[in-house]
Amino acid sequence: MIMNSRLNVAVEKLKQNGVRMTPQRHAILNFLFSSMSHPTADEIYKALENNFPNMSVATVYNNLRLFKDAGLVRELTYGDASSRFDANMTEHYHVICKKCGKITDFDYPSLIDAEQEASKNTGYRVESHRMEFYGVCPGCQHEYPVN
Ligand SMILES: [Zn+2]
Ligand SMILES: [Zn+2]
Repeated sequence: MIMNSRLNVAVEKLKQNGVRMTPQRHAILNFLFSSMSHPTADEIYKALENNFPNMSVATVYNNLRLFKDAGLVRELTYGDASSRFDANMTEHYHVICKKCGKITDFDYPSLIDAEQEASKNTGYRVESHRMEFYGVCPGCQHEYPVN
């Protein structure tokens, strides 16, 4: 099991929030921090179920909620039931594969200028924005060549 410093910091943060560390909780955190694949609760469950036969998808989901409340993960909702969870808390954008649904982080300066422009144009107090890029990931480009 990887015991990196981010994981240690997260464990400490949860302790401060009064959250007791359990082996399951630890495994879910470790999976989130080591995969960077923006998994769904179901994907995490499938990856860990062999190690934790008594764990349910609901357990995974409840833990993700807990991590979210502690500011350790972000929840990405896409209008359907399957939220994805992102352990990268720095500002970044996502490139999404329209074939397999893979989400890859893309570091780019946050578009604060655009927020200010939107605010100026509409009179809104603009507080956030959402921008996503869609395409075909390297892995899918072989299977779905450009016609
Ligand atoms: Zn793909
Ligand atoms: Zn991300």
